[in-house]
Amino acid sequence: MKRNTIIELGSSGSRAENPPPIAPDSPNVAPAASTATNVRVGGSRSAAIKIRRHGCVIDLSEMPLPPEVLFHRYFQELSPFWREKYRGKHDLEALETLELRPLLVAIQGALNEGLNEEHAVREPVDSHPFHLDYIDSTVPNALAFRHDDYAFIGITIRLVNELWDASDLLGKSEVIASLIGVRLVGEQREALRVVFFRTMLSFIVLHEWTHHIHGHVGPRGLGSVHFDEILDGGQGGDLESQALEVDADGYAVHLVLNNLIAGNARASAVTTFLKLDEQPLSVQDEVLFACFVVAVGAFLYIRHPVTVNSANVYTLTHPPQAERMNFIMNQAMRWCQPSRADLAARMALDRFQKLMRGTAEATPGDSGGINWAAQTAFLMSPDGREYNRKLNGVYQSYVQTLFPT
Ligand SMILES: [Zn+2]
Repeated sequence: MKRNTIIELGSSGSRAENPPPIAPDSPNVAPAASTATNVRVGGSRSAAIKIRRHGCVIDLSEMPLPPEVLFHRYFQELSPFWREKYRGKHDLEALETLELRPLLVAIQGALNEGLNEEHAVREPVDSHPFHLDYIDSTVPNALAFRHDDYAFIGITIRLVNELWDASDLLGKSEVIASLIGVRLVGEQREALRVVFFRTMLSFIVLHEWTHHIHGHVGPRGLGSVHFDEILDGGQGGDLESQALEVDADGYAVHLVLNNLIAGNARASAVTTFLKLDEQPLSVQDEVLFACFVVAVGAFLYIRHPVTVNSANVYTLTHPPQAERMNFIMNQAMRWCQPSRADLAARMALDRFQKLMRGTAEATPGDSGGINWAAQTAFLMSPDGREYNRKLNGVYQSYVQTLFPT
């Protein structure tokens, strides 16, 4: 697997003996450093800075650095090649799309708080404190990596913008509104856009979080590993790496649906955004479930479709999009079973296919449902079925290691 490219190329094993200085453009650090009278670089998680304020020297040596500073420093320490791609923490104050800023701040705050609480009660494989932040980058990507005893998740601002644009297209689509069953007009459609965006971004973040808590990052002897999520058909993988992606998708499905349909996100989605207060609970469930399918489908549709055959499908880092969506829907149906079996029954194959067709038509680009046709044809072929059988076998074996009986 070539998952640790940044680590291999960008950071040396001598970091501990010769740590780099605090970058002058580190957020929250630069103002203090600018007045420093005596600067030395100490432990990786302490500031080790003395500053002069109002005639007094203040020793900041033992003050721990906040995770957003450590997040930024991780990228500052990369080689020039990788720093050109990933420049550091993105300053949301500089965000061009003004209406997106409070939304990103709110999502970041809620996920950082909620997932650290989950960390505390679940005794996960990776128990490092968790921190989500945004990366200044023109590459659409999501990364999971460990650094300075933190489990970091980074979403590039380019990916954020692509999700926001796709959400806009979905929110404005008459076909999508009709398919999911909402009657929003005019500016109300902006609310539909927010539901799609929040669902997409949450799914991606929770996918990355699963890489952390299921031990995909680090404990397998690879050190601090980062996961490239958006590789447009990246090679260098195998069935084992694909099974980890299926696992991350599957766990994210359960977490997103727990939150959207049965948890904290339901009230605002139903009342504030979708105006479904008057509808029966079963109708509300159906609309929310359809929003989930459209949002996750759109996330997969906006990427370039992978061209697969019986040879290269086994060397991909991620399963082809159509295969991922199949696994995702299997997990979504499993989520419904304990208490909402009727919801699964109403998401029949015909309804699912209509939702996916509408999503593909609403989010054009260099992908779309037409291009998935080649993937689907392969997956339906004998070679494709054999690939599916093998991938499922590796995935099931992996799950047994997570939850041994
Ligand atoms: Zn992944």
